[in-house]
Amino acid sequence: MMLVHTVNEVREQVKKWRSEGLSVGLVPTMGFLHEGHQSLIAASVKENDRTVVSIFVNPTQFGPNEDFEAYPRDIKKDMALCDETGADLIFNPEPEEMYPDGFCTYTNITGMSDALCGKSRPIHFKGVCTVVSKLFNIVCPDMAYFGEKDAQQLAIIKRMVKDMNIPIEIKGCPIVREADGLAKSSRNTYLSASEREAALILSKAIFAGRDMVKAGERDAKKVVEAMTEIIKSEPLAAIDYVEMVDVETMQSIDVIEGNILCAIAVKIGKTRLIDNFNDIIHQASP
Ligand code: AMP
Repeated sequence: MMLVHTVNEVREQVKKWRSEGLSVGLVPTMGFLHEGHQSLIAASVKENDRTVVSIFVNPTQFGPNEDFEAYPRDIKKDMALCDETGADLIFNPEPEEMYPDGFCTYTNITGMSDALCGKSRPIHFKGVCTVVSKLFNIVCPDMAYFGEKDAQQLAIIKRMVKDMNIPIEIKGCPIVREADGLAKSSRNTYLSASEREAALILSKAIFAGRDMVKAGERDAKKVVEAMTEIIKSEPLAAIDYVEMVDVETMQSIDVIEGNILCAIAVKIGKTRLIDNFNDIIHQASP
C-alpha cells in the first residue's frame, strides 16, 4: 500500500492503473478510522480493482468555533487499518496542497444544504462539496463510497454528481454501530465515560422512532415528538434537531410516505453527535 501527499503523485498512480485497464474506487475520509470507514473501504475493495482512501481533515467544512484543531488524527493507525482492509493508496495531503495561496473557487449546493445540519453549520456543506469535487477531479474514480451515517451529506453528494454530470457512481453504505447501538464516529473519542453512557440516548431515540414507523405510524409529528421526549429524558443531552424529511429534498414532511429520512443531531456535553434512520414507505392501498 502506498502513502502519498501530493495531487501529482495520486494522478501519476491512477494514470498507471488506468493504462492497465484497472477500475478505481475512492473512499473520502477525515481519518481516525474505525469500523464504519472500514466498511466503506471493504466495499470499494470488493467492487473495484484498486482503492484510494483520502485522509484529510478539511478546514473549509469547519465553522470558526468548531473542532478543526481538536479533530483526532492518527495516520499510523489509519495506515494499518487501510492496509489490512486491502486499500492500495492513501492520499493524505496538507491543507496547502488542497488550498494553495489564492484559492477562491468553491462548489456549493443550494436548498438541501440549508436544512438539518446546515442550519447550525451554515458553511459546512459548501466545504464538503468543494473538497469532494476536488477529490473527484484528482482521483477520477469509477465509484465513490459514503456512509449513510452522514445521510444529508450522502444525499447532497448524489445531487451534486447528478447536477454537474460527474461520471462517478456514488455508493451509500449502512451505518456501523457499537455493540450497544451508538453509531461509530471519530468524535466519540471526545466523550467522557458518563457522556459515552449518555450518548446512547441517540440510538435509543432512533430505534424507537424506527419501530413506530415499522408499526405503521404515518404522522411525522408524532414520531418526532416521541423521539424528542426520549432525548429530553437524558440530562446531558441538548437537542440541535429531530426531523423527518424527504430524502431527496431534505424538506420536512407531515405524512411519512416515500423515501424518508429521520435525522437527529444532539450535543452531549460539548460533543455534537448525529444519527438517523432511512426507510421507503409505500402508500397503503385504499
Ligand atoms: P468522516 O471521516 O467522519 O468524514 O467519514 C468518512 C466517511 O465514513 C463518510 O462517508 C461517513 O459517512 C462514513 N462513516 C463515518 N462513520 C460511519 C459509520 N458509523 N458507519 C458507516 N459509515 C460511516
